[in-house]
Amino acid sequence: MKVILLGAPGAGKGTQAVRLAERYKIPHISTGDIFRSNIKEKTPIGIVAKSYIDKGQLVPDEVTIQIVRERLEKDDCKNGYLLDGFPRTVSQAEALDEFSTVDVVVNIDVPLHKLMRRITGRRVCGKCGESYHIDYLGGKTACEKCDGELIQRADDNEETVGKRLEVYEKQTAPLIEHYEKKGKLFNVDGDGDINAVFNAITERLG
Ligand code: ADP
Ligand code: ADP
Ligand code: ZN
Repeated sequence: MKVILLGAPGAGKGTQAVRLAERYKIPHISTGDIFRSNIKEKTPIGIVAKSYIDKGQLVPDEVTIQIVRERLEKDDCKNGYLLDGFPRTVSQAEALDEFSTVDVVVNIDVPLHKLMRRITGRRVCGKCGESYHIDYLGGKTACEKCDGELIQRADDNEETVGKRLEVYEKQTAPLIEHYEKKGKLFNVDGDGDINAVFNAITERLG
């Protein structure tokens, strides 16, 4: 099963992707995670990516497409994959159409005015990547799954998030129509609790 998770920053793509990957035993491929690990290792890709991510802008298509193309060629993607955060531009979607055929595109829909709080309150596990929110953490500072330290992403500050939401509207939202035209779009209400969203998605995916 080849699935794309579409949605604005903070819509819950990562949260759902972790759970879906476990349920369907397919790899969770997050371009954001790939960039962050490159930044940590100070690779050439990481150095380029950081300059864009810090400003809330998208990393250039050529760089991003190449990374995903190579990743999807790996053996573990033969039976399917879950793309989280890719594609984010029409050019990326068109490139993906050339090298892979996705089955379904799940669009997680959350009212824009709720996203700022979701993202600025996000805390992520530095070890396993699980997402949490300060509203539900009750002051806890360690990951429930692996005891890793919870951190705030450098780009999860109000100013950068504002920019990312603008970029989403301009460059990523048009993908909804792109996939609707192909008959691949499945819209899910992302404003319910995490389990309700998960159930709505798995009902569609089987
Ligand atoms: P994305 O990967 O789309 O940017 P995340 O999955 O990291 O989004 O979620 C963003 C923030 O919102 C996190 O703090 C996460 O804990 C929280 N969150 C995710 N899904 C829900 C939900 N259904 N209801 C409330 N908060 C959620
Ligand atoms: P979000 O919570 O906004 O969904 P991600 O972890 O998916 O965050 O992405 C973080 C940043 O990495 C983005 O703001 C962007 O700069 C960069 N990035 C991730 N995926 C892509 C992509 N497909 N194309 C271009 N830039 C990307
Ligand atoms: Zn963890």
